Amino acid sequence: MATYSYAKCKSVISKSRLPGLEYTFNPYVGCGHGCLYCYVPDLMRGRFDRWPARVAVKESVLEKLRSEIERLKPGIVGISTSTDPYQPLEAELMIVRGALELFRDAKFPVSIQTKSPLVLRDLDLLRVMDAEVGFTITSHNKEFRDIFEPGAPDPSSRLRALEGLSEAGIRTWIFYGPIIPGFNDSEEEICRIVGEAARTRSKVLYDKINLKPLVRLRLRSAIPEDNMRAISLFDYGELYRKIEKCCIERGVSCSPAF
Ligand code: SF4
Repeated sequence: MATYSYAKCKSVISKSRLPGLEYTFNPYVGCGHGCLYCYVPDLMRGRFDRWPARVAVKESVLEKLRSEIERLKPGIVGISTSTDPYQPLEAELMIVRGALELFRDAKFPVSIQTKSPLVLRDLDLLRVMDAEVGFTITSHNKEFRDIFEPGAPDPSSRLRALEGLSEAGIRTWIFYGPIIPGFNDSEEEICRIVGEAARTRSKVLYDKINLKPLVRLRLRSAIPEDNMRAISLFDYGELYRKIEKCCIERGVSCSPAF
């Protein structure tokens, strides 16, 4: 598990510029899942160079959240948008759980995206809130996880958790991304992911890999140069049409993530 320290911060909830979200709440800086394709370190411009070995926790995060919420009008909160809220540290620190209690009491709807079945721990809260949960399902192939998402839960446990949430009546979606050509873009993969979405009444959001400089650097250490070239030159138009066709055939609603 990542070690952690505390980081000073002025506020913990921000106005969102992302579609469908009024606010974002990010209690952690850094993410112990350490996905190779994660472009958050690029956005942090070197401010957090020990990713993913060290994660920072915002200082007095729940106290700050409590007082900030009091001054805000209720609106949908994205939890969280720059790390996985249910990364391994959350099992120990339970900050997201504390935040959900505050959002529940203040009647703020929440929209959560994760790769971790740990979200099921908070099902008792999510059930009584206006809540939706998205699971990132990149591939059914455990090898994909081992290469690209070494610190994240395996795909089958994510699917079981998605099923559990859906059965409990929580609105769910699957985030199929990032799509890395040659690794998780096969017809079989698409059909299985859309099939899971149909079974769990989830919508599908899809997205391609974002090859920012640090992402390229990490990928180069893990996959051959030929693959890197193919990924850089890939034209996603036809692939997106395949995803959409498959979704239409299975009655699944889908759209590009951004
Ligand atoms: S789970 Fe998300 S935030 Fe965490 S390392 Fe992976 S892509 Fe980045």
